[in-house]
Amino acid sequence: MPLTIAQVSSKEQPTWCPGCGDFGIMTAIKQAITQLNVDLENIVIVSGIGCGSKMPHFMKTYGFEGLHGRALAVATGVKLANPDLTVIAVTGDGDGYGIGGNHFLHTLRRNLDITWIIENNAVYGLTKGQTSPSSVKGFKSPSTPNGAIEEPINPMALAIAGGATYVARAYSFDMPHLVKTIVEGTKHKGLSVIDTLQYCPTYNKIQTMDWFKQNLVKVETLGHDPKNKAAAMELVLANSGKMPYGLFYQEEGKWTYEDTLLGIVGGSAAKADLNSIDMGKFMAKYR
Ligand code: SF4
Repeated sequence: MPLTIAQVSSKEQPTWCPGCGDFGIMTAIKQAITQLNVDLENIVIVSGIGCGSKMPHFMKTYGFEGLHGRALAVATGVKLANPDLTVIAVTGDGDGYGIGGNHFLHTLRRNLDITWIIENNAVYGLTKGQTSPSSVKGFKSPSTPNGAIEEPINPMALAIAGGATYVARAYSFDMPHLVKTIVEGTKHKGLSVIDTLQYCPTYNKIQTMDWFKQNLVKVETLGHDPKNKAAAMELVLANSGKMPYGLFYQEEGKWTYEDTLLGIVGGSAAKADLNSIDMGKFMAKYR
């Protein structure tokens, strides 16, 4: 029997601002879990710090709310300890692309079989509206009162170039598309990076609902082949016209970090026979 949304949900309720895109992302993750055909005890949702990083609290899966910027490091550890688990990391754009930028780059080149959903509202919401790595040039905030000088980060281009094997952008108000993207990304064997555009009505007065309606276009309408890496890169680097959302790139059959490493060390901690491990020599060093 497929799980219901009620079975996936914990008793805790979010305290996000009315209209926050996190509500849509939370609902989409729950819907996706009902379609994954994976038992709840085999799913781990890992997050960092931010408004949307409260996500593990609202699920009946296992979860870990970690340090700011460190969700991917924790997700990596969970996957290596037990590769049979379905591991989903959820972070904001500031958390994932800014504070956790170094983990972003190095997780890309490992191609672990985990899914990373970035709640991208182009602002630091929890800490009261500072400019984030995704904020548009000229964005005024308490940290850039005269407007942001830098260009925003291009996470999709970085993800493709860095080695992720499922690279997609979704939008929190296109629920069927977001659910489908999370389901497909989670089923994909390898690193799935899902940059999810969302609305922060409290602190981002540029990317409003109207802005999204006028500036987004579905990749599916552009005749793009997601198996073509060069075309995917060209699409995400295009700097004119509407912003595409959908699946940019997918590569199947690539090696994963956990399969390779666990092959070298002889298996995961979760399956190890702990009774046969002699800690005596190790402990002797500290006597
Ligand atoms: Fe959502 Fe923005 Fe409010 Fe945070 S500050 S809960 S991101 S609307």
